Amino acid sequence: MAGKGAGRFAPSPSGQLHVGNLRTAVVAWLFARSTGRSFLIRVEDLDRVRAGAEAEQLAELSALGLASDEPVIRQSEQADRYERALEHLQARGLVYECFCTRRDVAEAASAPHGRPGFYPGTCRGLSEDERERRRTQRRPALRLASAVGTWSIEDLLAGQVTAPVDDFVLRRNDGVIAYNLAVVVDDAAQGIDQVVRGDDLLDSAPRQAYLASLLGLPAPTYAHMPLAVSPEGRRLAKRDGAVTLEDLARLGWSPLAVLDVILASLGLPGGSLGAALASFDPVRLPRNPWVVDPAALFSTPAGPACKPSAPTDKVLP
Ligand code: GLU
Repeated sequence: MAGKGAGRFAPSPSGQLHVGNLRTAVVAWLFARSTGRSFLIRVEDLDRVRAGAEAEQLAELSALGLASDEPVIRQSEQADRYERALEHLQARGLVYECFCTRRDVAEAASAPHGRPGFYPGTCRGLSEDERERRRTQRRPALRLASAVGTWSIEDLLAGQVTAPVDDFVLRRNDGVIAYNLAVVVDDAAQGIDQVVRGDDLLDSAPRQAYLASLLGLPAPTYAHMPLAVSPEGRRLAKRDGAVTLEDLARLGWSPLAVLDVILASLGLPGGSLGAALASFDPVRLPRNPWVVDPAALFSTPAGPACKPSAPTDKVLP
Protein backbone atom coordinates (compact mmCIF):
# COMPACT_ATOMS: atom_id res chain seq x y z
CA MET A 1 0.00 0.00 0.00
CA ALA A 2 2.87 2.34 0.64
CA GLY A 3 3.13 5.13 -1.86
CA LYS A 4 -0.34 5.16 -3.29
CA GLY A 5 -1.99 7.09 -0.45
CA ALA A 6 -5.31 6.63 1.22
CA GLY A 7 -8.68 8.25 1.72
CA ARG A 8 -10.89 7.67 4.71
CA PHE A 9 -14.20 7.92 6.49
CA ALA A 10 -13.87 8.78 10.16
CA PRO A 11 -17.20 8.72 11.99
CA SER A 12 -17.67 9.55 15.65
CA PRO A 13 -19.51 6.59 17.22
CA SER A 14 -22.30 8.67 18.68
CA GLY A 15 -25.21 6.83 17.07
CA GLN A 16 -26.41 5.16 13.89
CA LEU A 17 -25.35 6.72 10.61
CA HIS A 18 -28.13 8.36 8.61
CA VAL A 19 -28.39 8.54 4.84
CA GLY A 20 -26.48 11.84 4.80
CA ASN A 21 -23.54 10.34 6.70
CA LEU A 22 -23.65 7.26 4.48
CA ARG A 23 -23.61 9.45 1.40
CA THR A 24 -20.48 11.21 2.62
CA ALA A 25 -18.88 7.80 3.21
CA VAL A 26 -19.80 6.73 -0.34
CA VAL A 27 -18.28 9.91 -1.75
CA ALA A 28 -15.10 9.37 0.28
CA TRP A 29 -14.87 5.82 -1.08
CA LEU A 30 -15.45 7.03 -4.67
CA PHE A 31 -12.76 9.69 -4.33
CA ALA A 32 -10.30 7.19 -2.87
CA ARG A 33 -10.91 4.43 -5.40
CA SER A 34 -11.08 6.72 -8.43
CA THR A 35 -7.62 8.03 -7.54
CA GLY A 36 -6.10 4.61 -6.87
CA ARG A 37 -6.01 5.12 -3.11
CA SER A 38 -6.92 2.69 -0.41
CA PHE A 39 -9.94 3.43 1.75
CA LEU A 40 -9.69 3.39 5.53
CA ILE A 41 -12.28 3.66 8.26
CA ARG A 42 -11.27 5.23 11.57
CA VAL A 43 -13.37 5.38 14.71
CA GLU A 44 -13.16 8.85 16.27
CA ASP A 45 -14.05 7.87 19.79
CA LEU A 46 -12.24 10.48 21.87
CA ASP A 47 -15.55 12.13 22.56
CA ARG A 48 -19.24 11.60 21.82
CA VAL A 49 -19.32 7.84 22.26
CA ARG A 50 -22.48 5.79 22.59
CA ALA A 51 -22.00 2.17 23.57
CA GLY A 52 -22.64 -0.13 20.62
CA ALA A 53 -22.57 2.63 18.01
CA GLU A 54 -19.18 1.67 16.60
CA ALA A 55 -20.33 -1.85 15.70
CA GLU A 56 -23.59 -0.50 14.27
CA GLN A 57 -21.80 2.04 12.10
CA LEU A 58 -19.32 -0.51 10.76
CA ALA A 59 -22.20 -2.88 9.96
CA GLU A 60 -24.10 -0.08 8.20
CA LEU A 61 -21.07 0.81 6.10
CA SER A 62 -20.45 -2.82 5.31
CA ALA A 63 -24.09 -3.28 4.22
CA LEU A 64 -23.40 -0.68 1.51
CA GLY A 65 -20.16 -2.42 0.51
CA LEU A 66 -17.85 -0.03 2.33
CA ALA A 67 -15.09 -1.74 4.26
CA SER A 68 -11.72 -0.56 5.46
CA ASP A 69 -8.72 -1.86 3.52
CA GLU A 70 -6.76 -1.97 6.76
CA PRO A 71 -7.81 -2.83 10.29
CA VAL A 72 -10.09 -0.16 11.70
CA ILE A 73 -8.32 1.91 14.32
CA ARG A 74 -9.81 3.78 17.26
CA GLN A 75 -8.54 7.15 18.39
CA SER A 76 -8.90 6.10 22.02
CA GLU A 77 -6.01 3.68 21.37
CA GLN A 78 -3.58 6.22 19.87
CA ALA A 79 -2.71 8.27 22.98
CA ASP A 80 1.04 7.80 22.50
CA ARG A 81 1.18 9.43 19.14
CA TYR A 82 -0.89 12.41 20.26
CA GLU A 83 1.45 12.90 23.23
CA ARG A 84 4.49 12.75 20.93
CA ALA A 85 2.98 15.41 18.69
CA LEU A 86 2.21 17.59 21.71
CA GLU A 87 5.77 17.18 22.97
CA HIS A 88 7.11 18.14 19.56
CA LEU A 89 5.09 21.36 19.65
CA GLN A 90 5.92 22.01 23.30
CA ALA A 91 9.64 21.66 22.61
CA ARG A 92 9.27 24.46 20.09
CA GLY A 93 7.40 26.73 22.50
CA LEU A 94 4.17 26.43 20.54
CA VAL A 95 1.93 25.28 23.39
CA TYR A 96 0.60 27.17 26.40
CA GLU A 97 -1.68 26.47 29.29
CA CYS A 98 -5.12 28.05 29.24
CA PHE A 99 -7.22 28.40 32.37
CA CYS A 100 -10.23 30.02 30.75
CA THR A 101 -13.64 28.51 31.34
CA ARG A 102 -16.13 28.18 28.49
CA ARG A 103 -17.79 31.25 29.88
CA ASP A 104 -14.54 33.26 29.83
CA VAL A 105 -14.05 32.30 26.19
CA ALA A 106 -17.63 33.22 25.27
CA GLU A 107 -17.33 36.55 27.08
CA ALA A 108 -14.05 37.38 25.36
CA ALA A 109 -15.63 36.60 21.99
CA SER A 110 -18.60 38.88 22.64
CA ALA A 111 -16.46 41.75 23.98
CA PRO A 112 -16.22 44.87 21.77
CA HIS A 113 -13.20 43.67 19.78
CA GLY A 114 -13.93 39.97 20.22
CA ARG A 115 -14.55 37.62 17.31
CA PRO A 116 -17.07 34.80 17.72
CA GLY A 117 -15.33 31.43 17.80
CA PHE A 118 -11.90 33.07 17.97
CA TYR A 119 -9.86 32.72 21.17
CA PRO A 120 -8.05 36.02 21.73
CA GLY A 121 -5.04 34.56 23.51
CA THR A 122 -6.08 35.62 27.02
CA CYS A 123 -3.75 33.15 28.77
CA ARG A 124 -0.87 33.34 26.31
CA GLY A 125 1.15 35.88 28.23
CA LEU A 126 0.65 34.62 31.79
CA SER A 127 3.77 34.67 33.94
CA GLU A 128 5.06 31.40 35.38
CA ASP A 129 3.98 32.59 38.86
CA GLU A 130 0.50 33.30 37.63
CA ARG A 131 0.26 29.92 35.93
CA GLU A 132 1.46 28.26 39.11
CA ARG A 133 -1.27 30.00 41.06
CA ARG A 134 -3.98 29.17 38.54
CA ARG A 135 -2.99 25.51 38.38
CA THR A 136 -4.08 25.15 41.98
CA GLN A 137 -7.58 26.30 40.98
CA ARG A 138 -8.19 24.68 37.62
CA ARG A 139 -6.61 22.10 35.42
CA PRO A 140 -5.41 23.88 32.30
CA ALA A 141 -6.28 23.12 28.70
CA LEU A 142 -3.36 23.26 26.25
CA ARG A 143 -3.57 25.68 23.36
CA LEU A 144 -1.50 26.20 20.25
CA ALA A 145 0.40 29.47 20.13
CA SER A 146 -0.58 30.22 16.56
CA ALA A 147 1.69 32.51 14.59
CA VAL A 148 -0.92 33.24 11.93
CA GLY A 149 -4.37 34.83 11.87
CA THR A 150 -5.66 32.85 8.92
CA TRP A 151 -4.58 29.93 6.75
CA SER A 152 -5.71 28.80 3.32
CA ILE A 153 -6.33 25.44 1.77
CA GLU A 154 -7.37 24.38 -1.68
CA ASP A 155 -10.53 22.27 -1.62
CA LEU A 156 -11.43 20.13 -4.63
CA LEU A 157 -15.10 21.06 -4.28
CA ALA A 158 -15.14 24.39 -2.42
CA GLY A 159 -12.10 25.96 -4.10
CA GLN A 160 -9.72 28.11 -2.08
CA VAL A 161 -10.81 28.38 1.53
CA THR A 162 -9.27 30.83 3.96
CA ALA A 163 -10.38 30.60 7.57
CA PRO A 164 -9.29 32.11 10.87
CA VAL A 165 -6.69 30.20 12.83
CA ASP A 166 -6.72 31.13 16.48
CA ASP A 167 -4.90 29.61 19.44
CA PHE A 168 -7.11 26.53 19.26
CA VAL A 169 -7.22 23.83 21.92
CA LEU A 170 -4.87 20.85 21.55
CA ARG A 171 -5.76 19.11 24.79
CA ARG A 172 -8.90 19.90 26.71
CA ASN A 173 -8.85 20.65 30.40
CA ASP A 174 -10.37 17.21 31.11
CA GLY A 175 -7.25 15.69 29.49
CA VAL A 176 -8.99 14.61 26.25
CA ILE A 177 -6.95 15.28 23.11
CA ALA A 178 -8.77 17.77 20.91
CA TYR A 179 -10.24 16.66 17.62
CA ASN A 180 -8.05 19.02 15.54
CA LEU A 181 -4.85 17.51 16.89
CA ALA A 182 -6.01 13.90 16.75
CA VAL A 183 -7.26 14.12 13.19
CA VAL A 184 -4.04 15.65 11.87
CA VAL A 185 -1.81 13.16 13.66
CA ASP A 186 -3.92 10.16 12.68
CA ASP A 187 -4.27 11.12 9.04
CA ALA A 188 -0.52 11.47 8.70
CA ALA A 189 0.26 8.32 10.71
CA GLN A 190 -2.14 6.28 8.57
CA GLY A 191 -0.78 7.59 5.27
CA ILE A 192 -4.06 9.39 4.57
CA ASP A 193 -3.44 12.08 1.99
CA GLN A 194 -7.03 12.67 0.90
CA VAL A 195 -9.68 13.96 3.30
CA VAL A 196 -13.25 13.79 2.04
CA ARG A 197 -15.92 14.70 4.60
CA GLY A 198 -18.96 16.90 5.25
CA ASP A 199 -18.60 20.62 4.71
CA ASP A 200 -19.51 21.30 8.34
CA LEU A 201 -15.77 20.78 8.85
CA LEU A 202 -14.66 23.09 6.04
CA ASP A 203 -13.71 25.87 8.47
CA SER A 204 -11.59 23.43 10.48
CA ALA A 205 -9.50 22.42 7.49
CA PRO A 206 -7.23 25.51 7.49
CA ARG A 207 -6.54 25.02 11.22
CA GLN A 208 -5.68 21.40 10.58
CA ALA A 209 -3.49 22.17 7.57
CA TYR A 210 -1.64 24.81 9.61
CA LEU A 211 -1.11 22.36 12.45
CA ALA A 212 0.17 19.76 9.98
CA SER A 213 2.70 22.31 8.71
CA LEU A 214 3.92 22.96 12.26
CA LEU A 215 4.35 19.23 12.80
CA GLY A 216 6.27 18.91 9.55
CA LEU A 217 3.49 16.80 8.04
CA PRO A 218 2.10 17.14 4.53
CA ALA A 219 -1.43 18.57 4.34
CA PRO A 220 -3.83 16.19 2.62
CA THR A 221 -5.96 16.97 -0.42
CA TYR A 222 -9.37 18.13 0.79
CA ALA A 223 -12.87 17.69 -0.60
CA HIS A 224 -15.75 18.87 1.58
CA MET A 225 -19.16 17.64 0.52
CA PRO A 226 -22.31 19.67 1.18
CA LEU A 227 -24.36 17.98 3.90
CA ALA A 228 -27.79 16.40 3.79
CA VAL A 229 -30.46 18.74 5.13
CA SER A 230 -34.13 18.49 6.05
CA PRO A 231 -36.70 20.26 3.87
CA GLU A 232 -36.49 23.15 6.36
CA GLY A 233 -32.78 23.43 5.61
CA ARG A 234 -31.55 22.09 8.96
CA ARG A 235 -28.78 19.53 9.09
CA LEU A 236 -30.45 16.13 8.66
CA ALA A 237 -31.03 14.30 11.94
CA LYS A 238 -32.68 11.10 13.04
CA ARG A 239 -35.73 12.99 14.26
CA ASP A 240 -36.49 13.99 10.66
CA GLY A 241 -38.01 10.58 9.93
CA ALA A 242 -36.80 7.26 8.53
CA VAL A 243 -33.20 8.10 7.69
CA THR A 244 -31.14 5.20 9.05
CA LEU A 245 -30.74 1.79 7.42
CA GLU A 246 -32.57 0.28 10.38
CA ASP A 247 -35.56 2.64 10.01
CA LEU A 248 -35.62 2.09 6.27
CA ALA A 249 -35.37 -1.69 6.56
CA ARG A 250 -38.60 -1.57 8.56
CA LEU A 251 -40.21 0.15 5.58
CA GLY A 252 -38.95 -2.56 3.24
CA TRP A 253 -35.83 -0.85 1.96
CA SER A 254 -32.77 -3.03 1.51
CA PRO A 255 -29.36 -1.42 2.04
CA LEU A 256 -28.66 -1.67 -1.67
CA ALA A 257 -31.90 0.10 -2.50
CA VAL A 258 -30.83 2.89 -0.15
CA LEU A 259 -27.44 2.92 -1.87
CA ASP A 260 -29.22 3.48 -5.18
CA VAL A 261 -31.00 6.52 -3.72
CA ILE A 262 -27.69 7.87 -2.44
CA LEU A 263 -26.01 7.32 -5.80
CA ALA A 264 -28.93 8.96 -7.62
CA SER A 265 -28.53 12.00 -5.35
CA LEU A 266 -24.94 12.22 -6.58
CA GLY A 267 -26.01 12.01 -10.22
CA LEU A 268 -24.53 8.52 -10.48
CA PRO A 269 -26.01 5.29 -11.81
CA GLY A 270 -27.21 2.78 -9.23
CA GLY A 271 -26.81 -0.95 -9.18
CA SER A 272 -23.44 -1.17 -7.51
CA LEU A 273 -20.58 0.89 -6.17
CA GLY A 274 -18.50 -0.39 -9.08
CA ALA A 275 -20.94 1.01 -11.65
CA ALA A 276 -21.00 4.35 -9.83
CA LEU A 277 -17.21 4.39 -9.73
CA ALA A 278 -17.00 3.92 -13.49
CA SER A 279 -19.09 7.09 -13.94
CA PHE A 280 -17.62 9.10 -11.08
CA ASP A 281 -16.33 12.55 -11.94
CA PRO A 282 -15.75 14.92 -8.99
CA VAL A 283 -16.39 17.91 -11.22
CA ARG A 284 -19.99 16.78 -11.69
CA LEU A 285 -20.77 16.27 -8.00
CA PRO A 286 -23.65 18.40 -6.70
CA ARG A 287 -22.41 21.53 -4.92
CA ASN A 288 -25.57 22.17 -2.92
CA PRO A 289 -26.86 20.44 0.20
CA TRP A 290 -28.89 17.28 -0.41
CA VAL A 291 -32.45 18.01 0.67
CA VAL A 292 -33.88 14.86 2.22
CA ASP A 293 -37.59 14.65 2.83
CA PRO A 294 -37.73 11.08 4.11
CA ALA A 295 -41.49 10.75 3.67
CA ALA A 296 -41.20 11.59 -0.03
CA LEU A 297 -37.81 10.09 -0.82
CA PHE A 298 -38.57 6.75 0.77
CA SER A 299 -42.32 6.64 0.22
CA THR A 300 -42.58 3.63 -2.06
CA PRO A 301 -41.92 0.59 0.09
CA ALA A 302 -38.82 -1.18 -1.13
CA GLY A 303 -38.62 1.35 -3.98
CA PRO A 304 -35.67 0.55 -6.18
CA ALA A 305 -35.02 -2.58 -4.13
CA CYS A 306 -37.54 -4.34 -6.33
CA LYS A 307 -35.34 -3.78 -9.33
CA PRO A 308 -32.62 -6.31 -9.91
CA SER A 309 -29.17 -4.75 -9.79
CA ALA A 310 -28.15 -3.51 -13.20
CA PRO A 311 -25.30 -5.52 -14.66
CA THR A 312 -22.15 -3.48 -14.88
CA ASP A 313 -19.70 -3.79 -17.70
CA LYS A 314 -17.05 -1.61 -16.11
CA VAL A 315 -16.25 -2.69 -12.56
CA LEU A 316 -13.04 -1.21 -11.37
CA PRO A 317 -11.00 -3.04 -8.76
N1 GLU B 1 -15.35 12.42 13.40
C1 GLU B 1 -15.84 13.56 12.69
C2 GLU B 1 -17.34 13.49 12.58
O1 GLU B 1 -17.91 12.42 12.67
C3 GLU B 1 -15.26 13.64 11.30
C4 GLU B 1 -13.86 14.05 11.32
C5 GLU B 1 -13.20 14.15 9.97
O2 GLU B 1 -13.68 13.56 8.99
O3 GLU B 1 -12.17 14.81 9.92
O4 GLU B 1 -17.95 14.52 12.43
